[in-house]
Amino acid sequence: MISQLRPSRFMPAGHNRIATSFEFFPPKDEAMEKTLWESVERLAPMQPNFVSVTYGAGGSTRERTHATVKRILQETSLTPAAHLTCVDATREEIDAIVHQYHDAGVRHIVALRGDPVSGAGARYQPSPGGYENAADLVRGIKRAHPDFEVSVSAYPERHPDSPTLDADIDMLKAKVDAGATRAITQFFFENDLYFRYLDRVRARGIDIPIVPGLLPVQNFKAATNFAARAGASVPAWLAERFAGLDDDPATRKLIAAAVTAEQAIDLLDRGVTSFHFYTMNRADLVYAICHLLGLRPAVQQAA
Ligand code: FAD
Repeated sequence: MISQLRPSRFMPAGHNRIATSFEFFPPKDEAMEKTLWESVERLAPMQPNFVSVTYGAGGSTRERTHATVKRILQETSLTPAAHLTCVDATREEIDAIVHQYHDAGVRHIVALRGDPVSGAGARYQPSPGGYENAADLVRGIKRAHPDFEVSVSAYPERHPDSPTLDADIDMLKAKVDAGATRAITQFFFENDLYFRYLDRVRARGIDIPIVPGLLPVQNFKAATNFAARAGASVPAWLAERFAGLDDDPATRKLIAAAVTAEQAIDLLDRGVTSFHFYTMNRADLVYAICHLLGLRPAVQQAA
């Protein structure tokens, strides 16, 4: 709704009570590396609480995740959070990675079970000698270094492996009991899903922040495939907004920014002040959305 875009409805421009975090994935080649660092540089003045770097399926990006996190620490003033999964590794191997991060000065891990090596959808089997699940991993990280801040995942629409939403929330509770202090949600497009989930999580006695994960949809077809694997629903109205734009990337981009900005502003209007953005290593949409939320780059504030 247009009226929701008026600053007085949410936060005056330049107000900094909003907390953001930006998620990146480790680059595969030089061109992707260049795009990533341009995006990091562009978004850094928005002063996110932290930037997180994903861990490829089956540990496939172990070295690249580590290198990216290390470079963020060494070359920027940003606080990195390293994603880590239990997949295809023994406890000793995971513990060695945790110690390496700690030695490098990293103090925040996003702890995940991860998907089976054969891909999401296959039945998950813990790796022999490995951590059983995300709660077990959180416990291992906190045991190794109690000063690690540990974030975990949350699924407003239920994780596809979980028989019920309640079973999923039980897993979230186990992760919190093991020491997690923040959950970041899978992306969703209907804010009511998030608020209904939040009610159930709070009713279960879980009081950590449940930070909404927002995905600006750059490519509708790819996002639909991704959503199907992740168990996130794609509403008909969203498909309608992107209909007929397959060959029109410029308009798609404008629509994508508008859709996510509308979603974020509605969340803000309803009391949410922390946002996690799945950047897909692209800064422009996320930058525009943050600007609409009232955030301004640090240099501009100082001037
Ligand atoms: P959990 O929270 O441990 O479990 C999810 C649900 O599945 C729970 O309800 C649990 O009860 C159920 N479940 C778990 N194990 C079983 C089982 N054996 N049988 C039946 N049910 C079971 N993936 C990556 O590979 N790398 C990343 O960097 C990454 N980052 C992510 C960041 C966020 C914010 C989110 C939301 C997801 C991310 N993922 C990542 C995806 C994640 O690894 C997958 O969704 C994975 O399938 C589940 O891991 P989890 O830690 O979310 O699972």
